[in-house]
Amino acid sequence: MDEDVRKTVRGIALLNASEHDGRTRNDAVISKVIGAMPELRARIKEIIPLISEVVGDVNAIPLDKQKSELESSFPELLTAKPRQDRKGLPMLEGAEHGKVVTRFPPEPNGYPHIGHAKAAIIDEEYARMYGGRLIFRFDDTNPENERLEYYAAIKVGLDWLGVRYDAVKNTSDDMELIYKKAEELILAGHAYVCTCSKESISKNRREMIECKCRAGDLDQNTKRWHKMFEKFKPGEAIVRYRGDMHSDNTVMRDPTLMRIIDEQHPLHKDRYRVWPNYDFAVAIEDSMDGVTHAFRTKEYELRNEIYYEILDKLGMRKPRVLEFSRLEFEGMPVSKRVLKPLVQEGRVSGYDDPRLPTLEALKRRGIVPEAIRKFVLSLSFTKSDTLAPFEKLESFNRKIIDSTSPRLFISVEPAKLIVKNNTMKEVEVQNHPQTDLGSRRIQLDGSFYISGMDARSLNEGDEVRLLELYNVRITKKGTPMEAEITGMDFKSEIPKIQWVPAQNAVKIEVLVPKILFVGDQFNENSLEVQEAFTEPHYLELNVGTEIQFIRYGYCRKDSASQAIYTHK
Ligand SMILES: [Zn+2]
Repeated sequence: MDEDVRKTVRGIALLNASEHDGRTRNDAVISKVIGAMPELRARIKEIIPLISEVVGDVNAIPLDKQKSELESSFPELLTAKPRQDRKGLPMLEGAEHGKVVTRFPPEPNGYPHIGHAKAAIIDEEYARMYGGRLIFRFDDTNPENERLEYYAAIKVGLDWLGVRYDAVKNTSDDMELIYKKAEELILAGHAYVCTCSKESISKNRREMIECKCRAGDLDQNTKRWHKMFEKFKPGEAIVRYRGDMHSDNTVMRDPTLMRIIDEQHPLHKDRYRVWPNYDFAVAIEDSMDGVTHAFRTKEYELRNEIYYEILDKLGMRKPRVLEFSRLEFEGMPVSKRVLKPLVQEGRVSGYDDPRLPTLEALKRRGIVPEAIRKFVLSLSFTKSDTLAPFEKLESFNRKIIDSTSPRLFISVEPAKLIVKNNTMKEVEVQNHPQTDLGSRRIQLDGSFYISGMDARSLNEGDEVRLLELYNVRITKKGTPMEAEITGMDFKSEIPKIQWVPAQNAVKIEVLVPKILFVGDQFNENSLEVQEAFTEPHYLELNVGTEIQFIRYGYCRKDSASQAIYTHK
């Protein structure tokens, strides 16, 4: 096995070195090795030293020797074709192996959510599928909305998802370049500075009317452009692209390229006040960054025309823009306009409230990153905006967590049960029926809590098995309920119920997230809190442990006194 790994690593290092003047780097090789052998992801720590060693060896050989070894020992790498449709993703048009560059360009204006996860995973999967690169770029050119905490939160979210990128950058670091490009458009007459009011600009756009500024000469535009950096106030002047005021595509009716925003930028403070809008910044950045395939959600489709035109007019290389559908769950909106007020008004506890579709919330709820990746890749790559069923994500999650989740007893709405003739002092119970997760000892004194639902369904004379213990017959229905042991033998025909030892039961609350919105209405009952008792072993588990409470469901331990319901 390890010889295979070494051979794969050597081939990849040689290929990469031969494509980069004879030098390769650990990080470049690591991502390609994982791309080629994804099963190594879990052993990454172990293989890094091996990779460093091989990279050192390869860098020590001259370029022509690298090439000849590549040809003689790894001919398949030189003709490598992307694996067909690796995980349900369609092949990319115009994609050449080793030359695909994708980018994930979030704006740091909020917490990352399931929609970001979809974009980042698709961007990454395509980069890996073609042995290419993924650029992680903060599109941070609207200081009004951007905060340092969001840069950090997005990065944390991406790391949690296991998305690995080959480079990270900020659009705001390219402001000088963006100014140069804006000037180029102005000088060539493809853009002009408009000083009309916001209201008249919108009205003119609707009515397809050209304003006076559009006819202004170069001298006027240049003067106004310079004034945007000092004299004009925000809203007094914008740079507009000279599009077509009669276009059916309203985006093309002289869209804004640059505007004035007098806000402190999280990274650059007050160094800049003239900022590009989305269309302008994204086109220039994608082109400059060498992006070959730029993915975005379908809602941007009408903006493709301006994207390509800007690059055309600037004589810049044009990436291919591709669309995918937005990912959102029913009743779980991702829009900041909806989420922000919920947090501010205290209707949810924060951005990690388990009812929300943010990555922090999904994590806290017990959804694991591998499940999100599988789920995203399982969605057909269509452009139609359909709401994805949350149950589908749950079923991927269940399959992944089942074998590692210890089983524990819980009694919800606890009801007391006294077994009169109990003589057992202790029982040892396996933590998982198949996986070896160890066992636990539970102290007994004959008094138990069972779930309220079970208690209600039992009547005097009924026989029931207390799981892992013995069979009992109910002798008195009441509070507490009483019972007597009838035997130890497993009987398939009687009901089996879970229990918690009353003497050292641990009281917890289980938060059960429900659908957040019904239609447009906030669901006031979206968070159910269930009182429960569980076994003392709960206290020994780490916060964050996923537990399967028998006959109840999977829950994630959130604290010593609180668990969050993940799913059935
Ligand atoms: Zn105007």
